[in-house]
Amino acid sequence: MVIKMKLNELKDALREAGIVGAGGAGFPTYAKLSDQAETVVINCAECEPLIKVDRQIMKKYVREILSGAQLLVEAMGAKEGILAIKKSYTGTIRAVEANLPDFPMLRVHILKDVYPTGDEVILIYETTGKIVPQGKLPITVGCVVVNTETVLNLYRKIFGQTNLITKFVTVAGLVNHPVTAEVPIGVSIAHLLDLAGGTTTDDYEIIMGGPMTGHLCTEWDVVTKTTKAILVLPSTSLPVTKRKHVIKHDIRNAMSVCSQCSMCTELCPRHLLGSSIQPHEFMRALANGLTDTTEIYLNSFFCVSCGLCELYSCHQGLSPRRLLDSYKGSLRAAGVTAPDRPMKPVSHVRDDRRVPERRLLYRLDLHLFDLPAPVREFTDADEVKLMLRQSIGAPCEPCVAKGDAVSAGQLIGRPPADALGVNLHASISGTVTEVTDQAITIRR
Ligand code: SF4
Ligand code: SF4
Repeated sequence: MVIKMKLNELKDALREAGIVGAGGAGFPTYAKLSDQAETVVINCAECEPLIKVDRQIMKKYVREILSGAQLLVEAMGAKEGILAIKKSYTGTIRAVEANLPDFPMLRVHILKDVYPTGDEVILIYETTGKIVPQGKLPITVGCVVVNTETVLNLYRKIFGQTNLITKFVTVAGLVNHPVTAEVPIGVSIAHLLDLAGGTTTDDYEIIMGGPMTGHLCTEWDVVTKTTKAILVLPSTSLPVTKRKHVIKHDIRNAMSVCSQCSMCTELCPRHLLGSSIQPHEFMRALANGLTDTTEIYLNSFFCVSCGLCELYSCHQGLSPRRLLDSYKGSLRAAGVTAPDRPMKPVSHVRDDRRVPERRLLYRLDLHLFDLPAPVREFTDADEVKLMLRQSIGAPCEPCVAKGDAVSAGQLIGRPPADALGVNLHASISGTVTEVTDQAITIRR
């Protein structure tokens, strides 16, 4: 079936369906779309180790995703759509290439297996050769990047009238049966661990998201529209211990042992692309209390928190990323915004300094957890807790009350009129058992 839509109709449908970026910070997808787009990049880079969602759903739902991508390209009036897939995802590449003749506006771009290829700015450079100016959005250079799972959600809305109520989540690490589960949004992490056959040990910590950029969570937390992975890791593993550091100790360590070797800067993927971010300079300024220039501190806005500097580059075990994040947060809270700084030329050694994903896995000591995690559908759940804030923008306001009967897909929350945000829908049928200013709970 071929469907053509005007851009405004498509935006309205995506907002109504509650669709946000499924693979990152959760930017409302409708707000990304633009009639200025020349190129649409479909992100199937699956940036972080151990996450196995996009490569599998691109293969399983290949015609749906290609149809959604084609629709996106046509609705925005773009010239082409690029399906950006890592070289090692051979089965996915074969499935896409076999179907491409039916989608003349789409082509495949094979990416190297390096980290962090899924970063929007890096992905745009790799696929189009264009450089997004630091602090600016991809549309500045005529590009829109959309995650693979987001395109599937778009397809399901436009071709099947289905609102966003499920999420694909890879559950890996210390579990009996690693799995990529399609579950109702709002199920607990404990439920997900059960679906993966339970944990193999009692001594573990849970990271929601990838090992590089995810955050620690508990069994009582719930799946949101942006949850891509649940990793059950040894409590002594590097991604866990790093996240348990106390910031004041990180500063003290930086003052004591930063050798100013500058490896953190030499391997920083944004620095190699020409950004002003130089983590070693920031560490020097912070450790020595330098206040004669604000430039070094303001450059913290250009760090994308990929985590390479602290989980891979630094031989002293220091935490430039955490300190940059903390500093950036304080600047934002004080109302400071990113400065306007020109990019430098792309480093001539960039190609040699990209970090192979396999090597990163070994450095993190997570290679034993890199196992198949097949896609399975589990749309049954006894209870879900749907957070009112699940994306960038305004949180939803509930439009149901305790005791109401709801059916799966029914509208239960909407953002304030004219605010950046998307609708929220019941992910199972049942009765609303609680409504707070944070979440709506439904029991089957
Ligand atoms: S890599 Fe570590 S020791 Fe070297 S400059 Fe950066 S923070 Fe300091
Ligand atoms: S986290 Fe570190 S390596 Fe990554 S962008 Fe920021 S400074 Fe660069």
